[in-house]
Amino acid sequence: MPLNIIVTAKQVIDPETPASALRLNSQLKRMETPPNIPPVINGFDENAIEAALRIKDAKGAANVKVTVISAGKSFVLDVIKKPLSMGADELVLVQDDALEGLDAFATAQVLLAAIKKVGKFDLVVCGRQASDYDQAQVPLFLAEGLGIPCVTIAKKVEVPESKLVVERVLPNGTEEVEATLPALVTVSNELGQPRYPTLRGIMMATRKQPTTWKLGDLGLSPAALQPKVPIEQLFVPTSQRQCEFINGENEEDKGRKLALKLREAKII
Ligand SMILES: Cc1cc2nc3c(=O)[nH]c(=O)nc-3n(C[C@H](O)[C@H](O)[C@H](O)COP(=O)(O)OP(=O)(O)OC[C@H]3O[C@@H](n4cnc5c(N)ncnc54)[C@H](O)[C@@H]3O)c2cc1C
Repeated sequence: MPLNIIVTAKQVIDPETPASALRLNSQLKRMETPPNIPPVINGFDENAIEAALRIKDAKGAANVKVTVISAGKSFVLDVIKKPLSMGADELVLVQDDALEGLDAFATAQVLLAAIKKVGKFDLVVCGRQASDYDQAQVPLFLAEGLGIPCVTIAKKVEVPESKLVVERVLPNGTEEVEATLPALVTVSNELGQPRYPTLRGIMMATRKQPTTWKLGDLGLSPAALQPKVPIEQLFVPTSQRQCEFINGENEEDKGRKLALKLREAKII
């Protein structure tokens, strides 16, 4: 039986976008980019795709099927098809106007319904977090919803026989964790450089069409996906800095006056 791996991948604003090019739409509570700056696949999701493809390399292409799922309001096909050109087998897009402004819980509900519709799976691989909202929550909700073990922040992912073996990144080193399949793992950049699409991979991806579903195809309604954690306000914080020069007869005098000022301001 082939090993069925599902990878979740999010299309995000390119983190290399210069801040000057970003536009804050405080009404819609979102950042916007000029049309000439295309989005990208979330960096940690490219690591997740790479982790899945390394399992495919290790077990043989015929023994592993990699399906990538992405949910969003709109997609740039050349961007979102990149996992196919890297070597993934299938691409499933959940595309719906209502898929903007979901919180992490609702996003996980959509991915959960899509995974159930895809059918049999042995391993779900996610990025450790999205580079736009950095919540690092969706995979945890997803594992809970699927009722499977969740191992986070992997730098190495292997599936010998029918178990998951993960080398996890810790603040002061690494640890090895095992889990029974089916399971979910989140991948970090310590896994290493994702492979570049080959010319052959790009040509194959051009011919492949993604499967596209709307919320209705998953039996979900926008009303059921209202954020439980609504964003009240989205703004760019402004920092007010003042600079004051302390004058004095000499260094000692300046130091004494600085100490007095810091005491007055209750800093010391
Ligand atoms: C206009 C607007 C309004 C918003 N309002 C709210 C709000 O009210 N409350 C709120 O909490 N958030 C809100 N958000 C944030 C947004 O919806 C977040 O994307 C969502 O909360 C998930 O968090 P995250 O993106 O940080 O994902 P993380 O939890 O960091 O995701 C980790 C991993 O999960 C997977 N994943 C995440 N999203 C997807 C996806 N769409 N497709 C496939 N895989 C995915 C990826 O593998 C990713 O690496 C809003 C966003 C917009 C644009």
